[in-house]
Amino acid sequence: MENFSYLKALKHVLFGAAFLLFSCTTQPSVTIKEPFRVGAWMGVNANTPKEKYEATFAKLQKAGFTEVLINTGTNPDILAAVTPVAKSYGLDVHAWMFTMNRPGDPIALEHPEWYTVSREGKSCFDTRPYVNYYQWLCPSRPEAVNHILSLVEGLADVPEVSSVHLDYIRFVDIFLPIGLLPKYDLVQNQELPEFDFCYCEVCRNKFKETHHRDPLELEHPELDVEWRQFRLNAIRDVVNKAYQRAHEKGKLLTSAVFPYPTMAANMVRQRWDKWNIDRVYPMLYHNFYNEEIDWIGFATAQGIADLKDKNTTLSSGVYVPALAPEEIPELIRMVKSKGAAGITFFDAGALKQEHLDQIEKTLSEF
Ligand SMILES: [Zn+2]
Repeated sequence: MENFSYLKALKHVLFGAAFLLFSCTTQPSVTIKEPFRVGAWMGVNANTPKEKYEATFAKLQKAGFTEVLINTGTNPDILAAVTPVAKSYGLDVHAWMFTMNRPGDPIALEHPEWYTVSREGKSCFDTRPYVNYYQWLCPSRPEAVNHILSLVEGLADVPEVSSVHLDYIRFVDIFLPIGLLPKYDLVQNQELPEFDFCYCEVCRNKFKETHHRDPLELEHPELDVEWRQFRLNAIRDVVNKAYQRAHEKGKLLTSAVFPYPTMAANMVRQRWDKWNIDRVYPMLYHNFYNEEIDWIGFATAQGIADLKDKNTTLSSGVYVPALAPEEIPELIRMVKSKGAAGITFFDAGALKQEHLDQIEKTLSEF
């Protein structure tokens, strides 16, 4: 889902054939064949007519899709209405939610202290980096995290939902994808203070307790490995709590993440190979990085290698507007050959009939 120029698409809303799963460590390895998952991110809001999303589900089912990731703005009632319809078209449903970035969240807005603070001392509550919908909560504030976890539970309570799908589970981009910099008229060849978060009092004190220094007083915070690790761990802790809550309700936890762990850590302080999570959907939007389609294969293989020894599967997320329909067959075969559990398209609305025809044709080979 998330992306940048894709901002517009975000407003409107906003996993494949035989595959190997490995058992846990104490058991001998067991090979389970799972169908190759094919999914699409999509949004449904209170004003979306049933005919509209039903038509989308019918189209996706015909092309061989197996799942949809649905953003309802963390509204469990909308999700409860849509899920049985999707299931009737043979589609698994994942409850896609904005996690640390909670633009316009009415409960969070009552607590200005919940928001992340930049190295410049400005809060995301009223000073938004990059775009107006960037309003990020601090992962070190227990009240903010409890609020997020209550939203996770609300979605996990919806019957028949397969997973809660965390998006924006990270910090503000310290570096934007290189292909997007001209669009924002930005040069980022170092960590810039206005995009560097969280220097709130709670984070500074918590870091100080363990490491005996104030991150705000560091001349080169970007060189302080513990300060980086502190923030990676803060996000990991939110994910692990969400994992526990979702599992307590019999649901999986999944997430839309940056391309592969090292890149995610460098760009957005997200290290998803260290998380308790059932499946990740890295957003391999090659055009954002000025890359060709083969890079999607590289990033898929890198992510899977980094997940070695974890019970986490991976579905490659791809950006439909940058894909010509005739590129689809090679793309699907490529991610499958690299070991992906599926492929996920951003987003359902961008899929033209020509894309769907190519997907249907390719899946019939498996
Ligand atoms: Zn903080």
